[in-house]
Amino acid sequence: MEKLIITVALTGNVPAKKDNVNLPVTPEEIAEDVKRCTDAGASLFHVHARDSQQRPTLDKSIFKEIIRNIKQVSPDAIIQLSTGARAGKDWEDRAAPVRLLPEMASFTTGSNNLPGIVYENSPQFIEFLAGVFKETGVKPEIEVFETGMINNALHLRKKGFFESPLHFDFVLGAPGAMPGTVKNLLFLSEGIPSDSTWTVAGIGKAEIPLATAAIVMGGHVRIGLEDNLYMPDGSLASNVKLVEKIVAIAKEIGRDIAEPDEARSILSIPHENKNRILETIG
Ligand code: ZN
Repeated sequence: MEKLIITVALTGNVPAKKDNVNLPVTPEEIAEDVKRCTDAGASLFHVHARDSQQRPTLDKSIFKEIIRNIKQVSPDAIIQLSTGARAGKDWEDRAAPVRLLPEMASFTTGSNNLPGIVYENSPQFIEFLAGVFKETGVKPEIEVFETGMINNALHLRKKGFFESPLHFDFVLGAPGAMPGTVKNLLFLSEGIPSDSTWTVAGIGKAEIPLATAAIVMGGHVRIGLEDNLYMPDGSLASNVKLVEKIVAIAKEIGRDIAEPDEARSILSIPHENKNRILETIG
């Protein structure tokens, strides 16, 4: 089996420090968490930015500060910036993180409900954002909350926006979208092209069980405080504790963990793209 890529969704748009004091919010805290998690075995980091009031933001200057801080302490870590909508709906604002030329960025290819909002990604917006990915050569992580999002991604590939192999993240267990069951994970993982790679992000209590299923199935794993604030025993989680839990489970099962450069190869990310982001942010 391929080595296991552990992605950490460090911060997200929704949780606050009052929910879990271990949530990294400032650029310094985010970078320190990346360092701890890289040392523990994670290779890929899904990054959101917050302003000084902990509110989600697409402010480029904050993203730049986060990136500078991460690259200083953990130069090999793969950075994946979020293009999610809670921080703003303007198309160019949502595309701005991709234009910073990270190695990866997230890309939800459809709409669904999430707590309190419609997560709106219209066909027109999806095609616009796909164009930005194509133009910049940034590798998309296709976030799948519902089955149709796979079909939309395959349609974009057919139109020439994406190249194979595609990389999918099945987000399961978010209230308003597909429940976090192994049955759904199996169904989705069988619905993507065979040369694709995939990871699973189980939300809340589904996080560790679905991660364990993915380790056994040959997929990859996304964990982190964006998706879940607690350890399986009910105590408060931290990003590094979640990474350590996944590493321990993988060891028990006999699956090796990918280093960042191995993760790049598995995901077909050109190694020469590693430091493009540093040139962009200056
Ligand atoms: Zn996110």
